[in-house]
Amino acid sequence: MMRRLLCTDLDRTLIPNGAQAESPGARARFRLLAGRDDVTLAYVSGRHRALIEQAIADYDLPQPDYAVADVGATIYRVKAGSWEILEEWEAQVAPDWRGLSHDALRDLVQISPALTLQEQEKQNRHKLSFYLNLDADIPALLERLREVLAREEVKANLIYSIDEAAAVGLLDVLPAGANKLHAIRFLMETKQFALADTLFAGDSGNDLDVLLSEVPSVLVANAASEVRALASAAQHPSLYFARGGYLGMNGHYSAGILEGAAYFWPEADGWLRAKN
Ligand SMILES: [Mg+2]
Repeated sequence: MMRRLLCTDLDRTLIPNGAQAESPGARARFRLLAGRDDVTLAYVSGRHRALIEQAIADYDLPQPDYAVADVGATIYRVKAGSWEILEEWEAQVAPDWRGLSHDALRDLVQISPALTLQEQEKQNRHKLSFYLNLDADIPALLERLREVLAREEVKANLIYSIDEAAAVGLLDVLPAGANKLHAIRFLMETKQFALADTLFAGDSGNDLDVLLSEVPSVLVANAASEVRALASAAQHPSLYFARGGYLGMNGHYSAGILEGAAYFWPEADGWLRAKN
């Protein structure tokens, strides 16, 4: 049996939580596609596990077979509602942190009172997350953190953003090799999915590494114009731009994922049309 790996970002890709409207029935069609025995479903998100489970419940999303959480730092195998960390992935990313545990790295990088550890559910073995006081000199603090990490020979990505609503900075420290693209390649290699049988769907900046990789990908039609411009400038052969019109849908969110599936996988087009 032909096996396919369907990977999708969640926020504003599968989850219709953007400004644009969702086509009626699009998510129900997505559930049909994802529910097939020959389709393996992987969610690929910046969300941590609890927030992915929350989204599944809130938006009636299908249970995935895998969940790439924490922007690639953690991969879960999901089976009959139980979530297990993929130890092979942990082993693959651990050397970036020189094998240091979460708590050992926390002790190394907690160098300023402006850094406060986030809640336990937002931490993971290879995700160390802090709040940052916006009154602090943040560029200087990030520079000092980079120096500490370099001195300790820890290869980490520092992902800094601002939660405008809460007026607080957010800082994630992740293994340098842990990102959406590496996690998807890892699933393809270890679970034996060919490139032609893999599809990724995304909408935003942290999806670009996958959208512009060798992995066949679709950019949903509701993607921000900056992301669309960056992606189209690259003229990337394995990237499809959802535009709407497929089965009368608008190409936003799950409709865009389905449009991409039909473009790359002609059989999927047949399945979707047969259910119409
Ligand atoms: Mg998104």
